[in-house]
Amino acid sequence: MILLPETSYEVKITEKKGKGVFAKKEIPAGTIIADYLGKIIHPEEESTESNNLHYGLYISDTTVICPDFTSNGAHNFNHSCTPNSTFFPYKGHTLIVSTRTIFIGEEFNIKYLIYPSEHFSEEVDMICHCKSPLCRGTQYCTDQEWDNYDAIEDKAYVDIEPSLVFGTYLQPLDIYPETIADLPSYMQIFGYHEKEPLKYSKLVMDKEEIRNLMRESGQNIYIESIDAVLAGITPTTYYFLYSNLH
Ligand SMILES: [Zn+2]
Repeated sequence: MILLPETSYEVKITEKKGKGVFAKKEIPAGTIIADYLGKIIHPEEESTESNNLHYGLYISDTTVICPDFTSNGAHNFNHSCTPNSTFFPYKGHTLIVSTRTIFIGEEFNIKYLIYPSEHFSEEVDMICHCKSPLCRGTQYCTDQEWDNYDAIEDKAYVDIEPSLVFGTYLQPLDIYPETIADLPSYMQIFGYHEKEPLKYSKLVMDKEEIRNLMRESGQNIYIESIDAVLAGITPTTYYFLYSNLH
């Protein structure tokens, strides 16, 4: 279920990725954009329930949320290697939350966090079409990304597990938080690569200040002293683009 006001987004057909969700208004960092709701099923039911589309969301090894394909929802958000939003477990639900300012016209995207070779075999196309300069070419995540997610996922699931009834639909929460704060141990922040970067002669900031700057501005940071663009910051890595862009 998309949780933004209807005036803030639109669902459109993209070139290679099916439907996508796009911002019609500027969206601040930490905004809860969607909740991944659907039918609670066992993993072995996924192929039948989703017509082999593999949009089921594994909230544990034994429980899958299968979305309702007849309405627009969290399953319409496409994958990107440098996303502006992220999955975020909250009270056993899986929210989609913006990790930085999102600009008008920009597509909302997330990392799918598909564990390498875990659930799918060769017949499923996992090639990435995100067009980011840092595209890895695949929608599978790295072992490190999986571990970072796993570390926060389990805690949330334990709270809700006893109340889940297979075959019924996961209902929206009564109350959602106003915003979700930055979580440096898990969240990845990438500036919008189609926007001009901020410009600094040198970058004299600590990691928290850099995260806040990219989160609030939504932009990459060009650093003159090393002639490079800082395009992303994750729990373990800074991503730089060295090019003749400038
Ligand atoms: Zn990509």
